Amino acid sequence: MAQVTLRKIVKEYEGGVQAVKGIDLDIADHEFVVLVGPSGCGKSTTLRMIAGLEEITSGDIAIGGALVNDIPPRDRDIAMVFQNYALYPHMTVYDNMAFGLMLRKFDKGEIRRRVENAARILDIGMLLDRKPKALSGGQRQRVAMGRAIVRDPKVFLFDEPLSNLDAKLRVQMRTEIKKVHQTVKTTTVYVTHDQIEAMTLADRVVVMNHGVIEQVGPPQELYHHP
Ligand code: ADP
Ligand code: ADP
Repeated sequence: MAQVTLRKIVKEYEGGVQAVKGIDLDIADHEFVVLVGPSGCGKSTTLRMIAGLEEITSGDIAIGGALVNDIPPRDRDIAMVFQNYALYPHMTVYDNMAFGLMLRKFDKGEIRRRVENAARILDIGMLLDRKPKALSGGQRQRVAMGRAIVRDPKVFLFDEPLSNLDAKLRVQMRTEIKKVHQTVKTTTVYVTHDQIEAMTLADRVVVMNHGVIEQVGPPQELYHHP
């Protein structure tokens, strides 16, 4: 069964800009799909519509087989990782990861179990008492991923998560993200403008341009043109 389904998705912003012009896509359970393409092609808008952060102008989106067009972000079975990490500066790493679960009224023991499990997967167990400002960029990125993992959602959404890191760290974190996906196997939709990143991470690459899908396929079948 497809875990994420997009049917004839259109997004027209105020002023008449058509950012997304009728996209159809089925993303399978456990699949890692990367949306790639030049700046302004509609990747981020597409991801934000899946997240519910942006209203769709027309079309249908289903997550886990259920239509979510009218479901607010908080009630969708997704967790999103942003490029600026969006960590709470006054909270420890532990509390940053626990916060979403506290809001959802999970009990303390379950929260601890989930945070410790995510910390183990991401190798940040020794950082749990620190505040974000005492972390490196790569460590902050891990915490942002930890916050998504503890939620145990059907779908992870990544919006250019590595674009604030230097080149060396980007390569390292790519490997890390791939490893995490192989461990938790959560269906993932990942947005980047970086073709190498797309090729490295994706089970399937979706190439967008000017609001439409130009090409879809596994990395080895794409970009054969010189
Ligand atoms: P990408 O993520 O591929 O860089 P975006 O989805 O951010 O592309 O943007 C697609 C198009 O929609 C661009 O032309 C952009 O300027 C426009 N756009 C994005 N967000 C808004 C907005 N909030 N209001 C108006 N236009 C927007
Ligand atoms: P990205 O393409 O990496 O998402 P941008 O710098 O294009 O980043 O956009 C940053 C934010 O500004 C996004 O939330 C996007 O929706 C919004 N945005 C982009 N283009 C426009 C626009 N033309 N008008 C209003 N908001 C925009």
